[in-house]
Amino acid sequence: MADQAVAVEDRHDRVAQRAGSGAGEQLAVAGLLAGAVQQAAVRAIARVAGAYANRRASKKRAHIFRAHGAVPYDARLMSFNRDARTVSLWTPTGRATVPYTGRPEDLKAVDTLPVGEADLICRRGVWLLQVALALPQPVVREPVGGFIGVDQGVANLAVTCDGVVLPGPALAGPVGGNGHVRTLRDRRHRQRRRLQKKGTASARRVLRRLAGREHRMMTDLNHQISKQVVREAERTGRGVALEDLQGIRGRVRAHRFQRRTLHSWAFAQQITFTRYKAARAGIAFVLVDPAYTSQACPECGYVSRANRPARGRFVCERCGLAGHADHLAARNIAARGVAGWAAINQPHATGLPSPRRDRESKPPASASGS
Ligand SMILES: [Zn+2]
Repeated sequence: MADQAVAVEDRHDRVAQRAGSGAGEQLAVAGLLAGAVQQAAVRAIARVAGAYANRRASKKRAHIFRAHGAVPYDARLMSFNRDARTVSLWTPTGRATVPYTGRPEDLKAVDTLPVGEADLICRRGVWLLQVALALPQPVVREPVGGFIGVDQGVANLAVTCDGVVLPGPALAGPVGGNGHVRTLRDRRHRQRRRLQKKGTASARRVLRRLAGREHRMMTDLNHQISKQVVREAERTGRGVALEDLQGIRGRVRAHRFQRRTLHSWAFAQQITFTRYKAARAGIAFVLVDPAYTSQACPECGYVSRANRPARGRFVCERCGLAGHADHLAARNIAARGVAGWAAINQPHATGLPSPRRDRESKPPASASGS
């Protein structure tokens, strides 16, 4: 490794989760007592323990540690010389000082931000150092333009209160822009059922591969969607409101989200992605009560199942407002976002105990809800 350059890779998406992890604190204590060798051993133990905890959770067979698996580093095992663009890494045969390179924005980040833990990995013969950085939390700006409400769905992955279907024209498909995702998912669903019935070892292998592929596709789409939503919020001076999926279970019977068992993780992921991208941009983020967002009229507030005469369509029985059901649901979500933000930021008016400006506090149920 000593004569090879190390590429510094900033894993933007994991930075927030990794910074200030519990493991980091434990290791700082161990480091006071021990030298570098023990420190490396502690890291290895942590890795093995982590692997087994994972294995238990996922009920898989014995974990196989690859010869070139990731080597974890913390501040005691690695030191950066930012002027010379070199990093000194502890190895079993002594310290190795190697030059590093990376994308300009990542190099700048390493130069200016506090460095946390890192993983040294080897990918196709290239050594990569994946560095976790503590990003500064920008102050959340007042959403002067209101909120962008985003309705998550199966037919349309995301529709905003502006009537925009995301991730948009990047995906060619028949109805609503996301047609191709749906066709793909339906096909996979049938394929999966067939393989599950078969139940052979090779069928199980194919199932695992399909699951991985689908997982990556959905993750990529969620990144695209959350990025576009936060960018639009930034451009228009608004905050972002999404439905709170957590509060649903057991409260609203047979809510539409419960029927989405196939990809419920993807909806939760979209919330996670949007939340951290909003925080990074200083955009207000609110989760709202999901009750009846698809049955309530955003104009007059009338709530009825009969407001939904056909799939994907909304017609208010009282005032006659008609349109795309997901778009109008997104308008309800936006309105609840405004109400939720006001409740969080005017604690005395609502009797909420904490005056904190919490980016992700759960607002109380809206009046147009249950
Ligand atoms: Zn109405």
